[in-house]
Amino acid sequence: MKAGRAGAAADAVERARQILGRARSIVVLTGAGISAESGVPTFRGPEGLWKDHRPEELATPEAFARDPRLVWEWYGWRQDVVRRCAPNAAHRALARRALAAGAAPLTLVTQNVDGLHAAAARQVGRELGEEPATALPLELHGSLFRVRCSGCGRRREHDGPVDASSRQSLPRCEGCGELLRPDVVWFGEPLPRRELEESFAAASAADACLVVGTSGVVYPAAGVVTAAAASGAEVVEVNPRETALSATAGVSVRAGAAEAVPRLFG
Ligand code: NAD
Ligand code: ZN
Repeated sequence: MKAGRAGAAADAVERARQILGRARSIVVLTGAGISAESGVPTFRGPEGLWKDHRPEELATPEAFARDPRLVWEWYGWRQDVVRRCAPNAAHRALARRALAAGAAPLTLVTQNVDGLHAAAARQVGRELGEEPATALPLELHGSLFRVRCSGCGRRREHDGPVDASSRQSLPRCEGCGELLRPDVVWFGEPLPRRELEESFAAASAADACLVVGTSGVVYPAAGVVTAAAASGAEVVEVNPRETALSATAGVSVRAGAAEAVPRLFG
């Protein structure tokens, strides 16, 4: 008898559970898709547009040099969207697994800038009475809730609203007086070195790699998965659609993250 779609999906979940269950070290790479069910828009859908601008036009150092007010207005809108969102069952399941006593180590690497993995780590940590530290992600592309000075490079947390009504009202560095910018990695910019090194070290040590909600076309982030595979890790993908990493994955669970990820570790 031929298995139907539901049967095939259940079979993929079971194989993924086995791979993750027997792993001695796990690396996880997440992308915008893991936050889709929290209400955070992905870039590559129609909802990625803002006032007719595509993210590729605004998330660049050139755009900030040309029109910092417009770029800050867009980031203010994105911060507002994300502040209204909460971690979903997928973020929480990963945090719970990362904090589980006695479980194999899990390194969480994210391309997301929405802070929802960290929020889940704090939530679950509180529930378990554990420090959230081991469930905090390596944020390869920075965070919407930090700023960096465009002059001297100093960084700090920043969760308040930004007045983007004029160039004069934009936030400036307390040290050197230059404009502050969001502490996110823009197109054409290098990734933060510590996060990159720790991610690739975790990838080469892992014997299982879980990749959730990423199209797998943005490098070097997607290289975490290919590096893990090259060092012998079994790769599991969770994504409703086929991606550039599907060919590398031994198992693809074709479902949304909030439904599928909790079943992988339950
Ligand atoms: P992407 O937009 O290129 O791809 C999103 C992927 O998620 C797609 O493959 C899609 O099929 C999948 N997806 C959609 N709904 C899903 C669901 N419910 N469950 C699981 N998967 C689902 O995202 P990307 O690969 O992360 O690359 C985009 C870049 O944009 C990243 O560099 C990131 O920094 C940035 N970005 C971040 C956020 C965020 O922080 N939440 C949002 C948009 C973009
Ligand atoms: Zn400065």
